[in-house]
Amino acid sequence: VNQAPIPAEILAIGDELTQGWNTDTNSSEIARELLAVGIAGSRITIVGDERAQIAAAFTEASRRAQVIVATGGLGPTEDDITREGAADALGAGQQFHAELWDRIVERFRARGRAIPESNKKQAFLPVGASRIPNANGTAPGFTFELNGAVIFVLPGVPVEMRAMLANFVLPQLRERFPGAARYHRNVVKCFGSSEAAIGEAIADLMARGADPIVGITVSRVTSTISIVSANEAAAARVAGEVAARLGPVVYSRRDEPIEQAVAQLLLSKNATIAVAESCTGGLAAAFLASVPGVSAVLKEGFVTYSNDAKIARLGVSPELLASHGAVSEECARAMAEGAREAAGADVGVGITGIAGPGGGTREKPVGLVFIAIALAAETRAARYNFAGLERNLLREIAARQALDQVRRAILGLPA
Ligand code: ATP
Ligand code: MG
Repeated sequence: VNQAPIPAEILAIGDELTQGWNTDTNSSEIARELLAVGIAGSRITIVGDERAQIAAAFTEASRRAQVIVATGGLGPTEDDITREGAADALGAGQQFHAELWDRIVERFRARGRAIPESNKKQAFLPVGASRIPNANGTAPGFTFELNGAVIFVLPGVPVEMRAMLANFVLPQLRERFPGAARYHRNVVKCFGSSEAAIGEAIADLMARGADPIVGITVSRVTSTISIVSANEAAAARVAGEVAARLGPVVYSRRDEPIEQAVAQLLLSKNATIAVAESCTGGLAAAFLASVPGVSAVLKEGFVTYSNDAKIARLGVSPELLASHGAVSEECARAMAEGAREAAGADVGVGITGIAGPGGGTREKPVGLVFIAIALAAETRAARYNFAGLERNLLREIAARQALDQVRRAILGLPA
């Protein structure tokens, strides 16, 4: 990092956040966006809907940071008190803005709805603040300066916050801090590797203070490695190095879930797919279906929960089921081949396992899952032990694991 980033603080306001009913996702989103324009978050504060606390939070942050972005508490109800808190921090009152009121009235009229009296509150702004337009809701945001810091206050609703951040806050900050180093983020996405294993492979690149900054987050067996630098070429080069070291566990260089990468792969190979699922109950097909445009390759999903369904829909033989059981590598193979054949697809997938919490045996414990991928040339299968995962988390991970196996089979990588 060639240049010290501009220090920023982010403030999330709402009782639902401090009391644990909702998670503050706005602040991390905002922090990521700020970094891209050379402004680095140094503190995130969460306060309840309490006027004195909100005022104090604005005042204290304005003494430390040059930029403050706050969300929440701009609604029409009594407990939304961010406006008042900001006015107190400014030592000012509030001012009615007729043009804001007209806009709110217009918005309700366009929807053919009566205007609640309480919405009048949203036409007031602290004296000295100016409006940030909100195209997606009634609550306008506002911006003001305090102790040399520029402060942006946005609604808590994420879609409204996001649009106002992109359309108003970030352009203003770019203009205000033209010399700020722009940060570039590259990502490397992996499936099925532990944080420790990845950490070992790239430990030297993750040293504190290194440029680019390399960090790992893991969620549901998907790892995201972020490579961030003001030097675009350096970020790209180190991302390439990370991907090369991690090898076949890397499924994408874009920040996307595995289903998106697999759907793209199928589309690029013009390879059609059919999925036969037992314990995942259609999740693998649903993940694929979440990707726009996948209809060109996703032919069919079979949810064959019972043995009868496996026999009737996929042609799994009753003898196979009698001798190996439904949760077996043999059954997974037969399901994958049966799906491929029944749908006339290029790729067939078979998933069978025991999601639990009950139903396991000594030989076939809860968490045992078999996944098979049938291609024209061969069928490959693998056995997984997802013991200890809650039922629906297991289903989700098994479904994504199957998609990762599709990727590996198509690319000729080891299972
Ligand atoms: P509105 O005019 O829509 O009421 P607001 O500014 O009053 O906007 P809040 O009432 O504080 O916003 O929050 C509205 C909703 O936005 C909350 O119920 C919550 O779902 C979401 N929300 C608020 N703050 C956050 C946050 N920090 N992170 C994620 N979601 C949030
Ligand atoms: Mg609120």
